[in-house]
Amino acid sequence: MPDAPTITVSYPVADVAALTLDMPGKGANVLSQSVLQELDSHLQQLEGRSDIRGLIIRSGKPGQFIAGADLREFVASLDVTQSQAAEMCQRGRRLFARLSQTQFPTVAAIDGICVGGGAELVSWCDRRVMSDSPKTQFGFPEVKLGLFPGWGGTARAPRIAGLGNAVEMITGGESISAQQALAMGWASDVVPPDRLMESALAIIREEQATRAYDRDRQRCQGPVAISPTELGFLGATAAGYIQQQTGGHYPAPLAALETILAGSQLDCEAACRLEADGMARLFGSPVNAALLNIFFLTDLNKKDRGVDRSELQPREIRTVSILGAGIMGAGIAAANLKREVQVLLTDARSEAIRQGVQGVLDEVAYDRETKQKDFDRAVRAAALLNTTTDDAALAASDLVIEAVVENEQVKREVLQRLEQRMKPGQLLATNTSTIPVNSLAQGLEHPQRFCGIHFFNPVRRMKLVEVIRGQASDDQTIITAVHYAKRLGKMPVVVKDGPGFLVNRLLLPYMDEALKLVEQGLSFEDVDKAARRFGMPMGPIELYDMVGLDTALFAGKVLCQAFPDRFTASPIVPALVAAGRLGQKSGRGFFLHVGKKRPQTDPEVMALLKPFRSEKPVQLKPDQIIHRLFLPMLVEASRVLEEGLVRHPRDVDIGMVFGTGFPPFRGGLLHWADSLGAAKVVEFLKPLEPLGKRVHPTALLQELAAKGRKFYDGSPS
Ligand code: NAD
Repeated sequence: MPDAPTITVSYPVADVAALTLDMPGKGANVLSQSVLQELDSHLQQLEGRSDIRGLIIRSGKPGQFIAGADLREFVASLDVTQSQAAEMCQRGRRLFARLSQTQFPTVAAIDGICVGGGAELVSWCDRRVMSDSPKTQFGFPEVKLGLFPGWGGTARAPRIAGLGNAVEMITGGESISAQQALAMGWASDVVPPDRLMESALAIIREEQATRAYDRDRQRCQGPVAISPTELGFLGATAAGYIQQQTGGHYPAPLAALETILAGSQLDCEAACRLEADGMARLFGSPVNAALLNIFFLTDLNKKDRGVDRSELQPREIRTVSILGAGIMGAGIAAANLKREVQVLLTDARSEAIRQGVQGVLDEVAYDRETKQKDFDRAVRAAALLNTTTDDAALAASDLVIEAVVENEQVKREVLQRLEQRMKPGQLLATNTSTIPVNSLAQGLEHPQRFCGIHFFNPVRRMKLVEVIRGQASDDQTIITAVHYAKRLGKMPVVVKDGPGFLVNRLLLPYMDEALKLVEQGLSFEDVDKAARRFGMPMGPIELYDMVGLDTALFAGKVLCQAFPDRFTASPIVPALVAAGRLGQKSGRGFFLHVGKKRPQTDPEVMALLKPFRSEKPVQLKPDQIIHRLFLPMLVEASRVLEEGLVRHPRDVDIGMVFGTGFPPFRGGLLHWADSLGAAKVVEFLKPLEPLGKRVHPTALLQELAAKGRKFYDGSPS
């Protein structure tokens, strides 16, 4: 049986047709090949009818217009040739362009998300009316996937909204609201959702009377009117800004800029051909494949419930008690309040509670758009935030999170004391970053309802949360912790208990290798530069100073003790700590930190480290430094998979991208390895062999290399 259709035709009035998109069984409409075919045949029928005097395109899904092209189809066709990709673009664009060639005006009535291919489709309509619902978002996010619009978007946008707006929207990839769309000229009208059709019909009647749409069709076929000076200025400023934002790692925004500017000086048909050729060059490129991987990782993470039992339902967390009002406790409290989860905060020191509450309210009140504190927000949050020193009150919350000092004895005492008072069904969690959850579970009466919920610092910025599954944690606990983390807008990854869990375990080999390179005589700057060149937001040496050298020393010790066969602690960090150089927090670490200035080199530190550094620096090219830094991390990741620490390779990549800033344009650590090929990785590891086990290929890597297989085995799912 053929699939039920997505597009149906109806006649809101006798001489106006409406095409309604409503993909059966899906939450959102996407433009798959079959939907495009349906559109084609509907247009063919309507084009031949003399009784039709107007066409409206709308969605049958409230709050969801069109979410874009079907990305799964994209992935399946990533290896087409460039000319095939260009032809795919041309075919879609020619279809959409028919919306601007009909004998009657065409109007898109948009309620909800209208992005990517959806925004392109409506760009070919004569007019657009949008609903004032906050769900209505309009934009071209293609650059976030390493692409730019390929169905005429780069040609239509400047002709409708002006060159500056088109450049900003397409190269930035951010969506705009209906009101912004109205101001830019995208929308002719913004009305409540239930008045969309009425407005669309009124627009059609007006266009029939004035025939303004005909004049606009003529105008849009030609080049965009702009003086050469203005064009040059726009190009130079936009290119400078893009270069600064992308660090040269993301080619799509710059390519989009060139295409928009060059296309603006041609007629529309030629601009579209230019667009198709440019888009084809990006389609299937390594950056495109990597960013698609990130898109699917994120999408699958939203659907992953953390356990495989479909009959199990998470418990709803409405109230949370947080013990420890320090950096992490305050950050976690703010994250809860932002999502309207009631918080009870406590600390052993009353001064810490006072400071914690102040910090939490300051953060919650901050409005990112206005860059000001919003008094109303603070008042609303304050109503949900309470403090207490009463154990009975703390233990009454749906979830109790312990975020006290990193001391096993203290944590055990706190957890056991509170557990006594908790009722069945309540959850107990620790935010420890180094202490095994299994050790903390010892002495608990109900370890099945205990797990780690490991937030990262700073909580407001870091999307990743590791949900640590102890030996005794049950499925109900894990599914609830995962559900809760998502409620806070985080990306939870379930990790089995083990030293360093996932992220710190994989960071150690990288951070440690950076010190080994310094010991071999490389400068801090050479090491950091190589990491940044690879795409990391900062180098490992800078990262040491940011994390704090005392924290790094402690975490390093735990991991070196756990894996003595491959990691030995460098003497460098202890020497710096002994000299009181703790990093940013003490104003001195590897670098000097003065106010908000960039970290500065400090000759004193060189003298301090002299005994540990080789007199004759090893000579390494930037790529060799990159291999030294990232291959030990990769080898350890393959070990993590062998041990079954996470449930899927994608969890490693989510952890690295959202927990460490691993460059998204590389698609994640394992995607990067897959893009090189396991055989190549093994070949790169060969010359490093004398360094020891940390760079010896694991059985898994060897097997993938021998069989020509990938970590992902071809699919992120
Ligand atoms: P912090 O020193 O800023 O805060 C710890 C707080 O716990 C202090 O205010 C202290 O007074 C309080 N405290 C100590 N003993 C207590 C007790 N018995 N009862 C109640 N409160 C008590 O530390 P932090 O950086 O917020 O770290 C807290 C936890 O989060 C640690 O387990 C740490 O490993 C973990 N963590 C820290 C980071 C980070 O980067 N700071 C990141 C992830 C996880």
